[in-house]
Amino acid sequence: MSLTGKVALVTGSTSGIGLGMAINFARLGASVVINGLGDDATIDAAKKSVAEAGNGMVIYHGANMLNADEITDMVAEAEKTYGAVDILVNNAGIQHTSPVDSFPKDRWNDIIAINLSSAFHASQAVLPGMQARDFGRIINIASVHGLVGSVEKSAYVAAKHGIIGLTKVTALENASRNITVNAICPGWVRTPLVEAQIDALAEKEGLAKEDAARTLLAAKEPSLRFTTPEQLAEGAAFLCSDAASNMTGTNLVMDGGWTAQ
Ligand code: NAD
Repeated sequence: MSLTGKVALVTGSTSGIGLGMAINFARLGASVVINGLGDDATIDAAKKSVAEAGNGMVIYHGANMLNADEITDMVAEAEKTYGAVDILVNNAGIQHTSPVDSFPKDRWNDIIAINLSSAFHASQAVLPGMQARDFGRIINIASVHGLVGSVEKSAYVAAKHGIIGLTKVTALENASRNITVNAICPGWVRTPLVEAQIDALAEKEGLAKEDAARTLLAAKEPSLRFTTPEQLAEGAAFLCSDAASNMTGTNLVMDGGWTAQ
């Protein structure tokens, strides 16, 4: 499959799943806009790995997903540079774990803003161009936590259930056009976001790090394997392929059997 001539914007692509997706879109020939937090070295390394995977067509925009105006500016900058945004991956996300009764209000607000509202703002900004060109692929990175709950993840689970709803509505509003909107629901993926949870479990239970990783998997994921960013990137590429052109408003679940239980 080729994405030559297409432009892909991936939020939160200085790390983890988003970076894996940006690299794969570049490998398939797309021009890529990356985004995310990080120091200069992190951003330069991400840019370099995307440039080397493809034709060198990569720009970085530092929009903070907490800020709607910066998100709108990121889309405008992408359209100005490359003429279009054909593929939008709403991927940026953070996590915080705590019971509801002691969940810090500022963490709640940040998680809802970054993991849910930013996808609304970015989708709103790209849709007029997609509608005018009659082509678009919006991929929202949800989670198994868009489908089921887990203790101590109220904000994350609420945001991820919300993004599944946003996916359906955006899909329905654009169903008669050549625009599809789908979600990907990963189980455990070993990125910095999950590494922090492995470290916390290791400390709490007095476990070696790899034992904590196995314990984390065993509690939820029957395959006992992490899904990789590369596998998720192939899932995203599939959603951009002709084979998926009549697939909209749905979820691609890549979770090692987590939600089959
Ligand atoms: P990660 O921490 O490796 O990457 C998160 C990315 O989001 C980084 O590039 C970071 O800079 C960016 N980001 C965070 N806050 C931001 C902000 N305010 N503005 C702009 N960018 C910001 O995490 P990841 O595991 O790759 O997570 C990516 C997505 O996948 C998230 O939406 C996450 O909820 C989802 N997800 C992850 C897992 C997992 O097990 N790792 C499972 C299911 C879903």
